[in-house]
Amino acid sequence: MSKLWNVAVVGATGAVGAQMIECLEERSFPVGKIKYLASARSAGEILEFRGKPVVVEELTHDSFEGIDIALFSAGGDRSREFCPSAARAGAVCIDNSSAWRMDPDVPLVVPEVNPLAIAGYTKKGIIANPNCSTIQLVVALKPLHDYAAIKRIVVSTYQAVSGTGKKAIEELHGQIRSMLQGLPADCTVYPHRIAFNCLPQIDSFLENGYTGEEMKMVNETRKILETEIGVTATAVRVPVFYGHSESVNIETVKKITVDKARELLKSAPGVELVDDPATRAYPMPIDAAGQDLTFVGRIREDESIVNGLNLWVVADNIRKGAATNAVQIAEILIEKYLK
Ligand code: NAP
Repeated sequence: MSKLWNVAVVGATGAVGAQMIECLEERSFPVGKIKYLASARSAGEILEFRGKPVVVEELTHDSFEGIDIALFSAGGDRSREFCPSAARAGAVCIDNSSAWRMDPDVPLVVPEVNPLAIAGYTKKGIIANPNCSTIQLVVALKPLHDYAAIKRIVVSTYQAVSGTGKKAIEELHGQIRSMLQGLPADCTVYPHRIAFNCLPQIDSFLENGYTGEEMKMVNETRKILETEIGVTATAVRVPVFYGHSESVNIETVKKITVDKARELLKSAPGVELVDDPATRAYPMPIDAAGQDLTFVGRIREDESIVNGLNLWVVADNIRKGAATNAVQIAEILIEKYLK
């Protein structure tokens, strides 16, 4: 029998944590012992793994004895505080928060794009999962970048509320229900109503006028593609439950036609091309939800510049944007690096 690995899910009661558990089950990850960790609020709650009950424990610095892999999705503060303890106890941490992403000693990994970077996990015992919007962007752009060398990326996002976690999903449900009954909508998670609205603010504003989310897309894309490529982003929250969409414009060094882009994307790992205007086939969040692929369509030449292309890119933010990407990293770790 092949080796089994002891896995801790930190943030097991959250939106991403629940999906990580499902991904471990679906992908038949060889789990020996599983440990679910969350805040004191959830300690004692009973969840399941492969049909068996698992009691949620409170996250502490002693939670990681005997753990081989710790999947973190409990917010940046918890990752900053507890990843080093987990690594000291011998676990490799795969972190979904933004805490470690730009640390030069922590690899930032999308398996379809830069799997070899995983080798750098030995420096701190931590591997960072990129931001959900960055993951789908680089999965779609990597084959085009390899062929035509991207000089500049202009991206605008249309991001689902599940990207903010469980409470935001409940807030959109609640606001829709209230408004359809003619009642006022409560806003606690977002600064304005999200139901039947769009919010051009994700994360807080920085001194340069961009939001944290926008600058994550800029910096993480450069780190993953290992280039000082020009990137500019506008991140918008929309009243969609699952699935982030992105309007992407690229300028390339070499000419890339629509046909060539389609050919490259058709065979690219993790990508599904949905691009047939004649039958009104294009990617939509309602189709991407529940899927692990990144869907690309609406490919057009940008007629305003010499070498430019427009694309529409959609993926499930909780799956490929978080949980699936983390479990894919864990799969490579056990196959190639851990003994
Ligand atoms: P969520 O639904 O709000 O879940 C948060 C999780 O963190 C819960 O399990 C919560 O446990 C746990 N937690 C909170 N405070 C804690 C504490 N003091 N000690 C231990 N556990 C604590 O949020 P989410 O969407 O799953 O996001 C979790 C992380 O993943 C965040 O860092 C987020 O940025 C990142 N991420 C999210 C997405 C996405 O699309 N949602 C994508 C990529 C990355 P309790 O239930 O006990 O409070």
